[in-house]
Amino acid sequence: MSDPRHVKVLIIGSGPAGYTAAVYASRAMLEPVLIQGIEPGGQLTTTTEVENWPGDSEVQGPDLMVRMEEHARAMGTEIVSDIITDLDLSERPFTATADSGAVYKADAVILATGARAKWLGIPSEEKFKGFGVSACATCDGFFYRGQEIVVIGGGNTAVEEALFLTNFASKVTLVHRRNELRAEKILIDRLMKNPKIEPLWHHVLEEVVGTDSPLGVESVKVRHVDTGVVSEIPTKGVFVAIGHAPSNELVIDQLETHMGGYVVTQPDSTATSIPGVFAAGDLTDHKYRQAVTSAGMGCMAALEAERFLAENE
Ligand code: FAD
Ligand code: NAP
Repeated sequence: MSDPRHVKVLIIGSGPAGYTAAVYASRAMLEPVLIQGIEPGGQLTTTTEVENWPGDSEVQGPDLMVRMEEHARAMGTEIVSDIITDLDLSERPFTATADSGAVYKADAVILATGARAKWLGIPSEEKFKGFGVSACATCDGFFYRGQEIVVIGGGNTAVEEALFLTNFASKVTLVHRRNELRAEKILIDRLMKNPKIEPLWHHVLEEVVGTDSPLGVESVKVRHVDTGVVSEIPTKGVFVAIGHAPSNELVIDQLETHMGGYVVTQPDSTATSIPGVFAAGDLTDHKYRQAVTSAGMGCMAALEAERFLAENE
């Protein structure tokens, strides 16, 4: 473990919330240090076209995040490739310990650790994870050229993944537990017009079936939610897209959370239940969970951290 390093503002996370907070905190001369975590650039690095980032009618998610990183760096943020493994918020300055052994003593902390994919939690899903079961079409879609693929879910992610996978697959079956998608209308429209996609309504994944040696998927068993009838769909790849859960491990025992683990912030604010600790983006937002709203909250967090430090130093 190295000697603790004092920083005015420590930003944890490198998605739209973290990088926006970094731009604002740098311009406030707070000399922020941003820790990128295991997924530099955050969730948008796992997608392709982003069509709702203002100013870009279409931009590739990974490109947008590289631009945000460059912007934060250009404004003066120190960007560190590391993961915070422990965060002690019991007294100020707060103590953050990183995987590398680095220790930070921070006068204010901006939490922007975002969210990550949820899994169904069935044993066969776990068994074939990385061997035919995936939660990232842009990462793994290429492996299924000319194959039949199954996507589970009915939100924006599931629909986007299904559409993207038609670039590789011969057929995509979208298995959804209701007969109504919660994705945006424009995406639903594209899905319905795509001849390679077949929705399967009122069904849930019962079991992933495959071979042990080599480990690989051959089919899925799906169950009708009303009749209970189980049917089998041949497939080589299963993409689980049933939503995201907040990455709250660092603070779950220290901060107030609600709605399944989202960090509670004060109304119209990013202030958490501990003064000097601010939370922005998908970690706190159970409602909108968009890049632009995350960026907006990152801005708020930096402005609020600046005000907090001015009042408390
Ligand atoms: P995230 O992007 O989740 O980033 C979290 C960051 O925290 C990561 O950098 C991670 O490495 C870091 N981190 C986590 N734990 C630690 C730790 N212990 N130490 C250090 N760092 C840590 N939104 C749109 O507006 N338009 C879209 O088109 C769109 N498409 C999407 C497509 C997909 C496939 C997905 C999954 C999401 C999409 N979204 C889209 C939603 C959007 O990506 C999120 O709302 C947004 O990325 C949330 O930003 P964030 O900064 O809160 O966190
Ligand atoms: P989501 O909107 O929460 O949708 C999750 C989907 O999975 C729902 O259709 C849900 O069914 C289904 N589901 C949940 N648990 C299930 C289970 N155990 N078994 C079967 N199905 C289950 O999640 P998301 O699609 O990942 O989107 C997350 C956030 O990112 C959203 O705010 C979204 O707008 C945003 N996002 C935006 C874009 C974009 O702007 N283009 C793209 C991707 C993501 P029900 O519908 O029945 O609840």
